[in-house]
Amino acid sequence: MRTTGGRSDRIVVVGAGLAGLSAALHLAGRGREVTVVERYPWPGGRAGRLDIGGYRIDTGPTVITMPDIIDDVFAAVGETRADRLELLPVDPAYRAAFADGSALLVHTDAERMSAAVEDFAGPDQAAGYRRLRHWLQRLYRTEFDGFIAANFDSPLSLLTPSLARLAAIGGFRKWDRMVKRHITDSRLQRVFTFQSLYAGVAPRDALAVYAVIAYMDTVAGVVFPRGGVRALPDALAGAGTDAGVRFCYNATVTELEHSGGHVSAVHTDQGERIDCDAVVLTTELPQTYALLGRKPRRVLPLRPAPSAVVAHVGCAAAPDTAHHTILFGESWDQTFTDIIDDGQPMRDPSLLVTRPTASDPTLAPDGRDLLYVLAPAPNLDRGRVDWDADGNRYVDNMIGHVQERLMPGLRDHAKVLDVVTPADWARQGMAAGSPFALAHTFLQTGPFRPANMVRGIDNAVLAGGSTVPGVGVPTALISGRLAADRITGIAERSTTRLDMKARWP
Ligand SMILES: Cc1cc2nc3c(=O)[nH]c(=O)nc-3n(C[C@H](O)[C@H](O)[C@H](O)COP(=O)(O)OP(=O)(O)OC[C@H]3O[C@@H](n4cnc5c(N)ncnc54)[C@H](O)[C@@H]3O)c2cc1C
Repeated sequence: MRTTGGRSDRIVVVGAGLAGLSAALHLAGRGREVTVVERYPWPGGRAGRLDIGGYRIDTGPTVITMPDIIDDVFAAVGETRADRLELLPVDPAYRAAFADGSALLVHTDAERMSAAVEDFAGPDQAAGYRRLRHWLQRLYRTEFDGFIAANFDSPLSLLTPSLARLAAIGGFRKWDRMVKRHITDSRLQRVFTFQSLYAGVAPRDALAVYAVIAYMDTVAGVVFPRGGVRALPDALAGAGTDAGVRFCYNATVTELEHSGGHVSAVHTDQGERIDCDAVVLTTELPQTYALLGRKPRRVLPLRPAPSAVVAHVGCAAAPDTAHHTILFGESWDQTFTDIIDDGQPMRDPSLLVTRPTASDPTLAPDGRDLLYVLAPAPNLDRGRVDWDADGNRYVDNMIGHVQERLMPGLRDHAKVLDVVTPADWARQGMAAGSPFALAHTFLQTGPFRPANMVRGIDNAVLAGGSTVPGVGVPTALISGRLAADRITGIAERSTTRLDMKARWP
């Protein structure tokens, strides 16, 4: 594996999002002197926060999976996650509600889920579910070490025995076709393929390797940090500080001092110059290249992922509403065509409705609940929507939809606290107005995704959603570890992960 080489005593990490925090803790745990520079006043980045009228809103990820990967980051500095952060199980992981009025509680426990599927769609589908679950487990085991959590120096690095195993179990076929092999009920198929949207690709086009996301939420399970998602970056930053990491908040990196392909210092808008032996950049790709004074050398332009509209709503207590509800529209294939190919809002929307107060009621004032309603939407490269003009109307439709399908009378007592549209994501600096970085198409996967080392620069390493392995909380945390490995070489893996591996079914 290629590493930065040379000295690696002093490292600057740009960005205190989950990738930057992970990189910082892994590097500090390996004895490096680490400084993290973050433009916002707190850690978390896209795992953002907003406090309005007694509501503690998480503005980014809501479906938190793979706690063992979180544990690894704490273990990197010799800490135990449970000492810093309480992760509450979310059970059921989702409530899937269909346009025909039927609904399924998605449990991660095999027996309970088999029984739920049998009640929902009959014994054949329950048997199919068990086969699918087994396949998802094999897929995860086969690809985790060699594909998800690996650094690639070139596409040739893929040519390992595990690649052959991955191909043999269908990892390079299409996701939806692999699911359809086991399950014929079209509603159930959606439950195990909708996650392809997280990868920014329609299930019919996504590689089956990404079905690992369905493993993460429907098999391994969903958790929620007590105190809200922000408790995760806060806890990581706390562990980092105690391990000696220096955090500079409210400081934007404006320039990298480099000559001859070597970065020697980082400059901030606060007038600080920080010497470094190596730098980890978790910035958006265009900004990363601008800071490095480089242009990406790709034949085909990069394809950004679709975006999302998110509405944060305070409402009267709704104790019967699950933590995560997916309101599937009637149409399905067309939904992906709308937002990915045609660049228009979903005509028949499918929405993710999250009620974080189901797990932690302290996130809303007494007697109230907090809702997070997410509608996948076209990014600004594809889309033809004037979100500043039409955003409010669109959100009104979203809330009307939630009222009709899930919470009768919602409008009577709902208060829209905040709305974020693709135009807002763009104003936050996100390329093409998408908070989900680059789509995980075949040509933006594994060794074909923008690499975490930049040709011609010997001591800058990339981390975060735009590079390997990709978008998402677990992957951002892994990308931080991969960046650390590029600087120090591969460190001995934490016992946590090895323990977990022994426990995998
Ligand atoms: C609405 C939404 C919903 C999501 N839902 C889920 C979900 O349910 N499950 C899931 O797993 N993932 C989800 N994700 C994706 C996940 O949140 C991200 O992939 C992950 O948090 C990205 O982390 P990162 O560290 O790569 O990037 P970021 O969080 O963007 O971190 C980069 C950091 O760098 C800072 N920065 C940028 N430029 C500079 C500069 N010049 N100087 C100093 N600092 C700088 C930024 O402020 C930021 O803090 C969601 C994301 C969003 C936005």
